[in-house]
Amino acid sequence: MITSDNWSYIIGRMRSYDAVVVGGGHNALVAATLLARAGRSVLVLERGDAFGGAAVSATVFSGFDARLSRYSYLVSLFPPLLLRSLGVSVELRRRRIAAYPPVEHNPAWGNMLARVAERVFPTLTEPLRTREDMRRLLDDDAAWSALFETPLSDVLERTFADDQTRGTVLTDGLIGTFAPADDPLLRQNRCFLYHVVGGPWNVPVGGMGALSSALAAAARGAGAELQSAAEVVAIATDGRSAEVRCADGRSYAARHVLAGVAPHMLAELLGQPAPADKPEGAQLKVNMLLRRLPRLRDVSSEEAFTGTFHVNEAYEQLAEAYRQASAGEIPSRPPCEVYCHSLTDPSILSAELRARGVHTLTLFGLHMPARLFADAGAKDRAIAATLRSLNDMLAEPIEECLLGLEALTPRELEAGLGMPGGHIFHRDLAWPFAESEEEVGRWGVETEYANVWLCGAGARRGGGVSGIPGHNAARAVLERF
Ligand SMILES: Cc1cc2nc3c(=O)[nH]c(=O)nc-3n(C[C@H](O)[C@H](O)[C@H](O)COP(=O)(O)OP(=O)(O)OC[C@H]3O[C@@H](n4cnc5c(N)ncnc54)[C@H](O)[C@@H]3O)c2cc1C
Repeated sequence: MITSDNWSYIIGRMRSYDAVVVGGGHNALVAATLLARAGRSVLVLERGDAFGGAAVSATVFSGFDARLSRYSYLVSLFPPLLLRSLGVSVELRRRRIAAYPPVEHNPAWGNMLARVAERVFPTLTEPLRTREDMRRLLDDDAAWSALFETPLSDVLERTFADDQTRGTVLTDGLIGTFAPADDPLLRQNRCFLYHVVGGPWNVPVGGMGALSSALAAAARGAGAELQSAAEVVAIATDGRSAEVRCADGRSYAARHVLAGVAPHMLAELLGQPAPADKPEGAQLKVNMLLRRLPRLRDVSSEEAFTGTFHVNEAYEQLAEAYRQASAGEIPSRPPCEVYCHSLTDPSILSAELRARGVHTLTLFGLHMPARLFADAGAKDRAIAATLRSLNDMLAEPIEECLLGLEALTPRELEAGLGMPGGHIFHRDLAWPFAESEEEVGRWGVETEYANVWLCGAGARRGGGVSGIPGHNAARAVLERF
């Protein structure tokens, strides 16, 4: 423990920065760029070899020049204005088809969501409003009640007659979120909200790695120092200045520390007692390389896999999978969604693979909480069940087409990326407004220390590939200089 007596001496002997950013995910890069552009000295410390965190591309299958978006794969939440202000010009390409199987069309529902998006999205990069201000801004009591106050199950069951449509709509509330449709805590509502406020889910051309590389270049261009292979093991602060210590023994002094890591990990680094409620991720991510797309019974593969291809995601199937996973079983027919990046953006494949007709498939499996993967055989059982589930929809087994398959459980995401419990949003998503008096007018990035800030997905209005918490943390810190 550092005492106030020796504090100034210790800080005085270290390399010193206006801001040290812990973790080099895409949000950290956004914060670093904005701070460096404002003339602050900034150091980013990333424990891995690459920058971008869950927003990276990788050549997953050796011998094949295919650069897959290894974790996250679609972008909806990154404000175009923020991208432009960062000088990042990655193309986000609209998919020709949004989803398969087609669902019941309901113009009133679509209009309601469009209105919510139009009102809520611009507020995500502004200081926090009160709940009441947000309700007034929305100016639509029915939408407010349906999305912010009552479990999503109510509005889905009232609005859609068809089980398949109800389920497809509900999946936006269950991405990385282990909850039933009628969860009284409304976790599914919050997840749903973040999935609809940004508009369509677009394909980053060149893969997620193209986005993060451009963000890293912007940060370096602005003058930030980026260090990889630099795992932070401790942060000490007296609220005015801080020391950030790395595993290799190096330490840095900082006026401000921005945590691009999850709040749970930040608590650990600050030496605080482990919070009781550790987050838990709930998905199985599967990356596949295919010699060709599998055949389907009544539609072309190109048609089905361009958009999000929903597998066993009808409303009742989602409820059954939730019941099974809650009882500690791998769902018998895991609900999952699949999409083919290379149909919309073939640039991630070498010319040779393209000429051979090779494609990539990304599968995101729902209701696969970390707790299911305690025993060694669980991962193989989950993969087998997931492929069986996918095969329900195909005219031939996917195994016929596979060149390579990589599956990532929540536990592996925790080990690889430091996401606690493998939670893809660092913790359950929060409402995009202040939930206490003291939060009003602030940025949702504050911690109990005046010079330690959240700049990653765990901030209020974090989660997803958005850059929003990075932007908000930079704004909050600049207000303090
Ligand atoms: C499988 C998967 C699929 C997803 N799909 C999508 C999607 O399609 N679209 C979407 O919008 N979102 C998606 N998400 C969510 C989204 O990717 C994340 O919420 C977002 O990328 C988080 O970004 P971040 O910068 O806040 O943190 P992270 O990306 O988690 O980055 C944190 C960084 O901190 C580093 N780190 C951890 N501990 C330390 C330490 N002690 N010292 C130094 N560095 C450390 C990590 O290595 C990592 O690079 C997905 C996530 C996953 C995992």
